[in-house]
Amino acid sequence: MTALAFAAALNCREMEGGGCGKCRSCMDIQKGTHPDVRVWKREKSVVHIGLIRELITSLSLKSYGEGYKVAILDEAEAMNQEAANSFLLTLEEPPPGSVLILVASNPRKIPETILSRCQRIYFQPLPGEILMDMLTSGGEVTEEEAATAVLLAEGSFSEALEFLDKSWRSDWESGLKLLEQIFKSGPETALASPVSDCQTREKADRLLFILERVIRLALRKRLGLSTPEGWSGPLSLLADNLHEGGFLGSMEAVYRARMMMEGNVNPRLVMEGIVLEIAAIAGKEVVTDREET
Ligand SMILES: [Zn+2]
Repeated sequence: MTALAFAAALNCREMEGGGCGKCRSCMDIQKGTHPDVRVWKREKSVVHIGLIRELITSLSLKSYGEGYKVAILDEAEAMNQEAANSFLLTLEEPPPGSVLILVASNPRKIPETILSRCQRIYFQPLPGEILMDMLTSGGEVTEEEAATAVLLAEGSFSEALEFLDKSWRSDWESGLKLLEQIFKSGPETALASPVSDCQTREKADRLLFILERVIRLALRKRLGLSTPEGWSGPLSLLADNLHEGGFLGSMEAVYRARMMMEGNVNPRLVMEGIVLEIAAIAGKEVVTDREET
């Protein structure tokens, strides 16, 4: 949203230094129909080189109006290495009269070679109450669904919207189930399912992302902060059985697994590795607990 406002400010014909929000150019930008301003979004889990090439070509074309050509790359952190490399030269020296905006909710995942060529502007996550209002205002989302999405999205409206989608909901449940199995019955059951379903890179990527978020939610639980109501059981299980180092260790393990996915490691192998690693971290704890009681 801020990126579009910036694009409007660059191209507005009525107001110097800001977008008026009313002129033809501002309205077209808001509607997504402005010929010189385009938001580029990934189609699958990754921003591929094809999308970046198309973006670069579009910037090199002549502008339709007198303003700037603006390319906004959404979820820039989803660029794979190949896509990022193909972007370097254009970022270094964009065509005259063009502006490139990379939007990322997790800029740490963007390669340093890209980051070093960008001017960074940070935004605070949206407060929970505002997100709640935005999600429930249409009347299609229940309070409980919205509350869960808000906690999962950690302040990002676009993520919250995405998580309300049915396909995400069942994947969150798979992630919870996977961790529950590791903590309850050990890695063997967890390896049988849902890890065996992770044949594709996209599935595995998503499951890893979910594992990271769920571990963070378990940490929230441990600290007595709010967590999704329906998930109390599995989150308590994690919160009670991980020590502080265990939270950090398992989050790091997930992070490393996500890095491996970026290299061309077989997704199934990565998933098996992460299950075994978390089990090793958790296993010790479960055993110690049993000895004490
Ligand atoms: Zn305007």
